[in-house]
Amino acid sequence: MAHQNTDVQTQSPSLNSPIENVDRPVRVLYIMGAGRSGSTLLDSVLANHPDAVGGGELVNLHSAGWSSNEVCACGKLGTECDFWTRVRSAWQRRVPDATVASYIALQKRFEFPHWFGLIQFARLARQRFFPSLAFKTYLRQTEALYQAMAEVSGRSIVVDSSKTPIRAAVLSRIQGLDLRLIHLVRDARAVAWSRRKSLAADQAAGVQTTIKPRPSWYSAGYWALINLLSMMVRLLSGSRSLRMRYEDFVTEPKRELERLGVLCDLDFTSTTNALLHGDPIRVEHPIAGNRMRMGGSVRLKPDWEWRDRLPNREQAICWLCAGWMLWLFGYSRNCNTAVADNVPMQPANAPRPI
Ligand SMILES: [Zn+2]
Repeated sequence: MAHQNTDVQTQSPSLNSPIENVDRPVRVLYIMGAGRSGSTLLDSVLANHPDAVGGGELVNLHSAGWSSNEVCACGKLGTECDFWTRVRSAWQRRVPDATVASYIALQKRFEFPHWFGLIQFARLARQRFFPSLAFKTYLRQTEALYQAMAEVSGRSIVVDSSKTPIRAAVLSRIQGLDLRLIHLVRDARAVAWSRRKSLAADQAAGVQTTIKPRPSWYSAGYWALINLLSMMVRLLSGSRSLRMRYEDFVTEPKRELERLGVLCDLDFTSTTNALLHGDPIRVEHPIAGNRMRMGGSVRLKPDWEWRDRLPNREQAICWLCAGWMLWLFGYSRNCNTAVADNVPMQPANAPRPI
């Protein structure tokens, strides 16, 4: 039986009145990058805007939320959560030819990564010039999901932290979406440290399957590939975008939220003030993603644990596998010293990546 997250219920304001007709393009704030880069935190911060609704990793909504019936951040099962139940009804009304199973089948063909997504990218490249009926159907049904979320929430902006660059490439092909891409980067050594830990499956805690530890070379290689693909999508999609380092976000939230505000055409002043005062950021109904979403709220908290805990040899392996890209993003090789919270990784006058 799913647990009830009372914290969410007390902190989350009611959703706005449903929008009858979503005729304007739905604005989608899409977070892409490698896993364990802080996307759940950023999703919650962006979705804190009164005009936005956060969905977590929407790429997994149909499979995790509606097919496997996993637990939403509100504490209810995917098929029992009122928000997702209404979104599903609105989605089905817009695309009556779709079922959850048929949509997942399309995702497997065009979106779920094989060989780290390289096969899907090859398929997408072909569809760009010779779009098949199945691909057009997939785009239409995906667009309908965002429209359904906007309709049910009464908010015109949807935050999607699916992270995969493949989905970003797919979304950039949908004319009815106003896509803004956020390429979120975190130091590969922090990602490697996070992925060295194993997690036992715990539905109520937001861990759907047992997560096995990964060696540092594997995590660094994965990190480099995903970020390379993310850069390619930024370059080729034509969508408005920026790159942001997680470390900059947690140490300079005001400056980074101003950059995000320009990208998204939104004013994040109230969210910035909440973060600077250490106030909790509400979490509503993300149904897939990091277990952090199950806490009901999140706070900004820098985490430099890897600098003290990741062995020097492992750090060297990360630099060997992904050093050129770390350097490109403005990270330095030698930072293996304990650093107090709220101290930026780079000197204040260091060049900031775009
Ligand atoms: Zn829910």
